[in-house]
Amino acid sequence: MFQNTKNIKPFEKKVWLSSPTMHGDEQKWVNDAFVKNWITTAGENINEVEKIVAERIGVKYAVALSCGTAALHLATKLAGEKLYGQAKPNCGTLQGHKVFCSDMTFNATVNTVTYEGGEPVFIDTERDTWNISPKALERAFELYPDVKLVVFAHLYGIPAKVDEIRAVCARHGALIVEDAAESLGATYKGVQTGSFGNYNAISFNGNKIITGSSGGMFLTNSKEDADKVRKWSTQSRESAPWYQHAEMGYNYRMSNIIAGIVRGQMNYLDEHISQKKVIYERYKDGLKGLPVTLNPFDANNCEPNYWLSCLLIDTYAMCPQKRTDTEATYTPEKGKSCPTEILETLVKFNAEGRPIWKPMHLQPIYSKNLFVTAGDNGEDVGADIFARGLCLPSDNKMTAEQQDVIIEIIRSCFE
Ligand SMILES: *Cc1c(COP(=O)(O)O)cnc(C)c1O
Repeated sequence: MFQNTKNIKPFEKKVWLSSPTMHGDEQKWVNDAFVKNWITTAGENINEVEKIVAERIGVKYAVALSCGTAALHLATKLAGEKLYGQAKPNCGTLQGHKVFCSDMTFNATVNTVTYEGGEPVFIDTERDTWNISPKALERAFELYPDVKLVVFAHLYGIPAKVDEIRAVCARHGALIVEDAAESLGATYKGVQTGSFGNYNAISFNGNKIITGSSGGMFLTNSKEDADKVRKWSTQSRESAPWYQHAEMGYNYRMSNIIAGIVRGQMNYLDEHISQKKVIYERYKDGLKGLPVTLNPFDANNCEPNYWLSCLLIDTYAMCPQKRTDTEATYTPEKGKSCPTEILETLVKFNAEGRPIWKPMHLQPIYSKNLFVTAGDNGEDVGADIFARGLCLPSDNKMTAEQQDVIIEIIRSCFE
């Protein structure tokens, strides 16, 4: 290693995994909020951005919230209430009930089930899109036929196998919470992600494809559900002359300042997607000949938003790599590499990569939860992708020249 990186100098300015890309329109709407003194969790920016997003995703209602996690929480709470009725104030709506969840994802996808007292049962990942396996999901329903709720995400902006997942859920009468936090703008059979579930969530966190610094939204076609989420998110006030409360409340509303940023950003969603697509394709091209593949998708059925380009190293080309709960080490080998080596090398050159989301069934907090795989041969797809995969610098402000250097750095790891 480093033979061919001798002439490569570290980047002067860090190349990020995915950082905010502002255009100026955002500032205009933030200023507008200042001028009109709507420095609160209500105002024109919120009303407008809810309309803009609902229209873009093709749903009737969008409710602007403080973050994607809040949107997921209220989506999950709503699903629980629909299935099992209103909860007591000190209980969640999913208290004591199992919920089938994506396994390889950010913890927010599944924590919100736990917030409501549910017990996440993790469903293994499939290799075609790195999302929840419809086969494993079917198997889970055979094992636990009473389950009535499925929560799944579209990882790294690549749509999951929506038709198959919906067919399994329909067969077993289960509701769906769709976590489209990473996939804003991605489509499946021409339809936007974030519109497939009974309850849907998106995120405007700082490293997502568009951002308000933070923020999220609950998306639905049901006016009743939208009204309910709006009410819950503003401390559950009943209509009365005073602060009257009949239900548990939350302070989850989006700020009008943040809504201004998102309002300006929405004009650039398509631009960001096409920039990310160019990055994905440049990696695909530039890494040809190496024993690696990129995060896969079904080009016939979907158009990802290409949020993050990820790499998967062929099994035979993996050098020995060890991960404890907190540390990673590896032994370099000629012609081989591993995520740890590539990530450490990227850091040396001032670029940011990231391991694949560590599967939830491998997390200490969920070590006692059930985990269902597609077969009974012990194959754990999520653990395998976690071991061999990594997220590459995918910032849409990365220049072609910088990306060529990143590609060279990755190549050097396999020498
Ligand atoms: C970012 C993310 C969330 C949470 O969104 P926040 O706005 O950060 O709360 C949820 N699920 C997935 C898959 C995410 O990547």
